[in-house]
Amino acid sequence: MNQAEYLIIGFGKGGKTLAATLGAKGHTVILFEESPQMYGGTCINVACIPTKALVEQAALSAKLGGNYDERNARYQAAIEKKGVLTGKLRDKNYHKLADNPLIKVIDGKASFVDAHHVLANGVTYEGETIIINTGARPFVPPLPGIPSKNIDVSETLLERKTLPHHLLIVGGGYIGLEFASMFLNFGSEVTMLQVEPTFLAREDEELAQAIEADFAKRGLKLYKSVTTKSFEEKDGIVTTHAVIDGKEVAFTSDEVLIATGRRPNVEGLALEKAGVTLTERGAIAVNEHNQTAVPNIYAVGDVVGGLQFTYISLDDSRIVLSSLLGGKRTNLNRGAVPYSVFIDPAFSRIGLSEKDARAKGEVMIGKLPAMAIPKAGILGQTNGLLKVIVDKASHEILGAHLYCAESYEMINLIKLAMDHHIPYEDLRDQIYTHPTMSEAFNDLFAAVK
Ligand SMILES: Cc1cc2nc3c(=O)[nH]c(=O)nc-3n(C[C@H](O)[C@H](O)[C@H](O)COP(=O)(O)OP(=O)(O)OC[C@H]3O[C@@H](n4cnc5c(N)ncnc54)[C@H](O)[C@@H]3O)c2cc1C
Repeated sequence: MNQAEYLIIGFGKGGKTLAATLGAKGHTVILFEESPQMYGGTCINVACIPTKALVEQAALSAKLGGNYDERNARYQAAIEKKGVLTGKLRDKNYHKLADNPLIKVIDGKASFVDAHHVLANGVTYEGETIIINTGARPFVPPLPGIPSKNIDVSETLLERKTLPHHLLIVGGGYIGLEFASMFLNFGSEVTMLQVEPTFLAREDEELAQAIEADFAKRGLKLYKSVTTKSFEEKDGIVTTHAVIDGKEVAFTSDEVLIATGRRPNVEGLALEKAGVTLTERGAIAVNEHNQTAVPNIYAVGDVVGGLQFTYISLDDSRIVLSSLLGGKRTNLNRGAVPYSVFIDPAFSRIGLSEKDARAKGEVMIGKLPAMAIPKAGILGQTNGLLKVIVDKASHEILGAHLYCAESYEMINLIKLAMDHHIPYEDLRDQIYTHPTMSEAFNDLFAAVK
């Protein structure tokens, strides 16, 4: 079968969801994946799932303490356990598609021949509709000394066999912060170099300050306004050369993580042969239906260059299905998008910061320290701060910034309230189970003034 109604390039969240849904509805699908180690995509193999598995194990390890050998043994067990988990998920994902006779999974890197044909392993495949779901890859700045044995990106660091004594992270973004928090919990010394003068500059100032202060207490050595220049590795020790405030500085560590962002995976796709165009930032240009410049070609997930989250790729798949099978979804009607950073405790955010909300009109603010929440005490995670911003006229929630245990669960409730224009008083007066983190909404919204 070299022909199908749908050709899907890439086994990511959006692509696999589209393949499974279209296949279940009786359509023929051919899906191309360049690596059998990536069945199921980035999330389950080298990103969300393995990192969060390690975040959990690291938190347990932190509670146990001990010397390097003990912590290293727990780290190695965690890496092994993570490998078993991702292996199982990869297998499950493969069978979810390949077991449907209408879906064919081809191992191979695909590229366009024209708007209806794709080439993989020297074979040409024809499709009426083509969906690109090729994801993103780490951006590594072209600095002297890279590549080197102990200089990694997030994907390769997840395979490191021994616990680093000292991890240096280049980049102060969310991925860098999750790794910083995780390795601090495993017991490594962690240094972070960020180019920006302000920590978490895009976040609400008060929350960014609270998170920065907690990281400092946990021992993170954070340097701001840093220009990283080059690396040298000798006998397993990497020297990182940088400039801070005009002064040359050198750091040594036995591991370096480059966490300087991710770029859409478009190389080698020969998009020009199909007429698919790119944005100025090198992502695939799409309209509100996730349709490219070519009407029968769609793109979903990180390759589109918007918010890089698994649930956005999933939502993109709903938008494409809406277009293909009928429905009202577009990428303009997603509502506010929440996100979580799995540090310790987790930080979750949706909507506007206080500063941005005040710039738009009159607001009311509610705040609660995490130590006021009984469940936070039970979990032994009493640090943190919760803050909500409410529109003074409509009483609708404009933003929520939750830096506390289990905030990644709580934020989803706020998304629901925001999407359905539920006034803050409903969350304030809601019955919540006890003892839970979400019951904090009683007090948090009661504090709104
Ligand atoms: C360390 C880390 C942690 C993260 N944590 C989270 C998190 O906690 N929560 C969250 O929501 N998001 C998280 N993300 C982001 C999330 O992983 C991505 O947004 C998501 O996986 C993107 O999925 P996708 O559908 O765009 O494609 P991907 O899952 O990236 O899939 C693309 C697939 O296409 C394949 N491919 C590429 N080119 C070709 C080609 N030419 N032919 C055939 N196959 C090809 C690739 O091998 C890959 O399997 C994290 C990312 C990182 C790096």
